[in-house]
Amino acid sequence: QSSFLASSRSRSEQLYQDALQHIVGGVNSPSRSFKAVGGGAPVFMKRGQGAYFWDADDNRYIDYLAAYGPIILGHAHPHVTEAICRAARNGTLYGTPTELEIEFARLLKEAIPSLDKVRFVNSGTEAVMTTIRVARAYTGRSKIIKFAGCYHGHSDLVLVAAGSGPSTLGIPDSAGIPNSIAHEVITVPYNDLAALEAALARWGGDVAAVMVEPVVGNFGMVMPKPGFLEGLCALARGNGSLVIYDEVITAFRFHYGTVQTFDGLPGADGAAGTADFSAIEPDLTALGKIIGGGLPIGAYGGRKDIMAQVAPLGPAYQAGTMAGNPASISAGIACLQALQEPGTYDRLDKLGAALEAGLAKSAQRHGVPLTINRIRGALSTHFCDHPVTNYEEAQDTDGEQFAAFFRLMLEQGICLAPSKYEAWFLTTAHTEEDVAYTLEAADRTFARM
Ligand code: PMP
Repeated sequence: QSSFLASSRSRSEQLYQDALQHIVGGVNSPSRSFKAVGGGAPVFMKRGQGAYFWDADDNRYIDYLAAYGPIILGHAHPHVTEAICRAARNGTLYGTPTELEIEFARLLKEAIPSLDKVRFVNSGTEAVMTTIRVARAYTGRSKIIKFAGCYHGHSDLVLVAAGSGPSTLGIPDSAGIPNSIAHEVITVPYNDLAALEAALARWGGDVAAVMVEPVVGNFGMVMPKPGFLEGLCALARGNGSLVIYDEVITAFRFHYGTVQTFDGLPGADGAAGTADFSAIEPDLTALGKIIGGGLPIGAYGGRKDIMAQVAPLGPAYQAGTMAGNPASISAGIACLQALQEPGTYDRLDKLGAALEAGLAKSAQRHGVPLTINRIRGALSTHFCDHPVTNYEEAQDTDGEQFAAFFRLMLEQGICLAPSKYEAWFLTTAHTEEDVAYTLEAADRTFARM
């Protein structure tokens, strides 16, 4: 395994040509294309097991993509697979309530104390989209504040970029979104309380909610600065706006729970550990990814009086034919059960630390500027010589270097996400040997760069 992979990816290339004939852009999510890393055929996978997956040409890869996050137990985890099969044997969809949904709601509530009530949906996008509707219904206000570079799915209101200047009404980030909708969104820089305060001073009475990835996963992994979440919650509350946490990536990622109760956050005073979790508790939370154990899911929830806005109790409408389907719910329950295994997150942390240390040492040895942001088993590699604490700093990194790194790693059987903004995710299936092999490959890669 010590040299670069000689085998071809000709089958992937052929499949890509076929896919282009039938599927728009050849992919069912743009993040899967290799556009951001120089183009060409993405790798077509056909089988996954544990920390590995195999492409259409039978090349094996160590998987750090983890399907953009959900696959925290690795591929085809036996407990999850068994749960899905059991559900399938009993019929995958009834269109009626089931006992499973109650069991899963209880599990989530035990782990996430801010959830008085939850509702299951089918994706992170739906979950976030609905929290906004509920916040608007509850407050009677229309605008939301979000943070530049945070991704909250592809619904109209959150596909809005910052205009120029530190605190601006948004401009659409996608064709097909009217300016009238973008104008309901205010975008400010992450980790910048002064900008948030200024935005609230200007548009306060119209702001229904402040929405944030409490730990960012979408321009690399980025921690809130000491006091950022406390300040955000206090400013929002002082303004009568709700706080919405998008924990689609972060829930069950760093510990068995969410960022809301994560003891790895910096404290408001700069010391380790948040002293007072009540100071960072959101009103509404959006969930997805890991909680579905690899099947489609989303969920949102929060305070009882706010969730009472949702139909059939209240006037805010939200529904779903597939919502709460027994297959997704069963996979989710099985996934959370497996994550409860003692030592799970310590292990992810240990593997993450080894990966971080090895990558940093190797990059330094070969004179490649590299900033690594890591939180337990999730890390991001930024090709730059400065810290990355907000989107602007994440943009100011070397995309071409990342692309070269990505491609050389892929040739050696290491699969990363094809974007400089995405994280590496460790799974419970990765071993010390996988990390060691990855570091050898990275060392050879840095040497070539
Ligand atoms: N919120 C965050 C923080 C995300 O990272 C994502 C997806 N990457 C979403 C929402 C949207 O989730 P989905 O792709 O399941 O719609």
